[in-house]
Amino acid sequence: MKHSTESSLFGDIPLSKKILAAITEMGFEEPSPIQAQTIPIVASGRDVVGQAQTGTGKTAAFGIPIMEKLNPDSRQIQALVLTPTRELANQVAEELAKIGKFRRIKTLPVYGGQAIDRQIRALKFGVQVVIGTPGRLLDHISRGTIRLGHVQTLVLDEADEMLDMGFIEDIEDILKSVPPERQTLLFSATMPGPIKALATRYMRDPVEVSVSRENITVPLIDQFYYETRDKLDGLCRVLETETNDRVIIFCRTKKGVDELTSSLQARGFMADGLHGDLTQAQRDRVMKKFRDNQLEILVATDVAARGLDIEHVTHVINYDIPQDPESYVHRIGRTGRAGRKGIAITFIEPREFRQLKLIEKLTKTRIVRNQLPSSADILEKQRETLKGRLVTVMEQGDYTAYHDVVNDLSADYDGLDIAAAALKLLLEGFREKTDDKAAFTATGAKKTGMVRLFVNIGRAQKIRPEDIVRTFAEEADLIGSVIGAIDIYDKFTFVEVPADVAERVVAAMHKNTLKGYKINVEPARAR
Ligand code: AMP
Repeated sequence: MKHSTESSLFGDIPLSKKILAAITEMGFEEPSPIQAQTIPIVASGRDVVGQAQTGTGKTAAFGIPIMEKLNPDSRQIQALVLTPTRELANQVAEELAKIGKFRRIKTLPVYGGQAIDRQIRALKFGVQVVIGTPGRLLDHISRGTIRLGHVQTLVLDEADEMLDMGFIEDIEDILKSVPPERQTLLFSATMPGPIKALATRYMRDPVEVSVSRENITVPLIDQFYYETRDKLDGLCRVLETETNDRVIIFCRTKKGVDELTSSLQARGFMADGLHGDLTQAQRDRVMKKFRDNQLEILVATDVAARGLDIEHVTHVINYDIPQDPESYVHRIGRTGRAGRKGIAITFIEPREFRQLKLIEKLTKTRIVRNQLPSSADILEKQRETLKGRLVTVMEQGDYTAYHDVVNDLSADYDGLDIAAAALKLLLEGFREKTDDKAAFTATGAKKTGMVRLFVNIGRAQKIRPEDIVRTFAEEADLIGSVIGAIDIYDKFTFVEVPADVAERVVAAMHKNTLKGYKINVEPARAR
């Protein structure tokens, strides 16, 4: 290795200061099981066949040792990663770039559908790691626009997916274009025959690694999962509808804990975070608040939650899917203690489905798919809560001071109306009656027949036009195409909708959420 020999430990694994600094910045606290097994073997130079899916930390398992070994002073391609899709190529490139950040290593994703000229220019400029889909890589090989003569490590990522997509011959052609004395690493969720054959033919005495193959028993807990691309919004919906007094939410990284904690606090949840960077005093303070019921939600990493003894947790929520089945069992074992039945909820992004299935298989339990609560569900839940509180107030009986008000009003109004109006006042607060119709007429819409609406979030919340269209369409039951001009500013957004649905949109979005943010929608004032 040419770089500094100074090293520190990631778990038990010695790493250079620069790589360790990068993964610390990424918020990793300790190696995941697949990393603990794989990194030392890859570092020793041997070939590896790894059975691991997305969500196990497999990218960093090969990425960390590769980034350690590369020579940043050479502009030759030293590592080549093959992935089945452009999405994965981008993700892997991003993760590797983060790991190699302090060694100034350049990574380049290369896939079809992207202008080839730009890729050729970038390749000419020189990068140390290329991550690409097989078709486009072959294209570059046949054009002579990529030089693979210095590749020392070749990675086949999600090999079974590449097989399913018909890339097997392309892969073989690429394998033949890379120096035979290279190191080869193969990762795959499953090991069908053709993948095994590939390994036998093109790899040298590979070491096999896998995440836990043994079966593990899971305590009796109701287990659900939600699949969504917007986990924060999904989590907020779940938290608003579940009856939860004590919730532990697990995140993969320290950074994740900090971000989620702030997001939840900003939305009014009583949440606080726990991770390895906190001092003992800070940790004790958070734990005391949680034990004393001054906190509903504890957000934690696995490391931080280890060894905590917390009673009566009603919900364990995996905001990030655990990296291995043991960790899943360990996390959810914190709910439902002492004869109480707890609930375990796992959020997955679509691509993490396989990891979920593996956990289900190895733990021999069923994790039931659930639909995220709709706005109607949330409203229903608010009504239920309100009813419950009313009953408590009536049972406490300490309200006769208000009898006079009701008595006075009953001369002119019906009792049912008085009670309902009182609840509206309680839930929605008091507003001067304005002429609602008038508010909808002069809103400064550019097109006639449209009403311009003001939404109190914007670019700062990373709102995109498609977020507005999707949410409005779903919540107000519209066809997305009727929505007109959308102008997104830093802190707010203007949206034009047809006049005949404007009131419905405002009503549907009242106190609703968009991308997890509580929002307010009202007719805009004329320009
Ligand atoms: P992968 O299985 O490679 O797709 O990784 C899934 C996610 O886990 C990515 O967001 C990684 O950044 C993250 N990750 C990988 N290794 C670790 C680790 N040791 N600790 C925490 N997060 C990790």
